[in-house]
Amino acid sequence: MEKANTNNDMVVPPDRLRLKDVMVRYGSFLALDNINLVIRPGEFLSLLGPSGSGKSTILNVINGAAQPDAGSVLIDGRDVTDVPARDRGLGMVFQNYALLPHMNVFDNIAFPLRVRKWPADRIRHAVADILRRMGLEGFAHRKPRELSGGQQQRVGIARCLVYSPSIILMDEPLGALDKNMREQMQDEIKTLHHATGATFLYVTHDQEEALNLSDRICLMNRGRIEQIGSPQEMYFRPVSEFAATFLGESNILSGCLAGKDLFQSDCGLSIHVEGRPDIAVGGAARLLLRPEHIMCVTPSADMPNRFVFIVENVNFVGGFIRVTVRGRGGGRLQFKARAHNDYANLQVDSEIHLGWLPSDTVLLPA
Ligand code: ADP
Ligand code: MG
Repeated sequence: MEKANTNNDMVVPPDRLRLKDVMVRYGSFLALDNINLVIRPGEFLSLLGPSGSGKSTILNVINGAAQPDAGSVLIDGRDVTDVPARDRGLGMVFQNYALLPHMNVFDNIAFPLRVRKWPADRIRHAVADILRRMGLEGFAHRKPRELSGGQQQRVGIARCLVYSPSIILMDEPLGALDKNMREQMQDEIKTLHHATGATFLYVTHDQEEALNLSDRICLMNRGRIEQIGSPQEMYFRPVSEFAATFLGESNILSGCLAGKDLFQSDCGLSIHVEGRPDIAVGGAARLLLRPEHIMCVTPSADMPNRFVFIVENVNFVGGFIRVTVRGRGGGRLQFKARAHNDYANLQVDSEIHLGWLPSDTVLLPA
């Protein structure tokens, strides 16, 4: 007889949030196409993607503002697809703050507690406490219009945190703020994530924001999940040209896979790469080269991918230079590189030796 395996008896915490086979249609338009997503307890997960890719629709399906045409939403293992929004126990922060303009800060923050019928003195304590934590003491009696954008969003976040939801949904909460305020608020949101231990699902179209904040990023493309992974996985191991170009600066070469570890570019370069089991030898492929991996090397440098070019054109674009070079075979290669000293004295018509490591290249499907 088999002995019971005690490991199987251990209580495994359920996923905090799970979308199963979720579809959303607007007329004939498929806004969400078979979304399967698991969010772990305490995780900070960002939904990243271009405008119209379905990020807000995912949030709306989770918070009950939109009903999926198929599939289900589970919170802590419980199917809540048919549970009304207010009974799902979620916190929500919007881009446009969604504060009630005729109410002062105190009443805005107290609003969800009054809806939940908390007694007055408990509300007073809770609001005072969150005002302090959000650096909003002294603002309790102001109306939203008497606050800056950053302060209004602090009120929006305070109103969400005040009843300690275990899941917090944020839809481009910093989208209306200027760059400096956005960076400051990113730090505050990070601190809140650590302090509350809550699970965050955060929508943004800003790749830097997603890289900075997230434990994992879910990249959306036309209503589907393109890729999901840690910021490092997304940046260093993108699965597609879409993912490679959406996160970070990139150079994409088209060509074909000439051998298991050899890429032949259309511009005439034979480049040693790391093969990928799902890309067949002989088939069309793309190659990703991040700008920071392209090195100016000496003519005698011993490396597997070293090429001589003639410089045709150099453009300085902030932290990057855009260089066009011509190979011996005549093919052109345009690439971005980090603007550092290596490239300080690049002269048009001069020779340049460029090199990169096979392990720094990423093969992508064509
Ligand atoms: P994102 O938040 O990534 O910008 P959305 O989730 O808001 O994208 O929208 C995804 C797609 O669904 C868009 O093409 C949008 O126009 C469409 N859409 C969203 N809401 C509606 C609606 N209520 N009626 C019709 N189309 C909608
Ligand atoms: Mg949106």
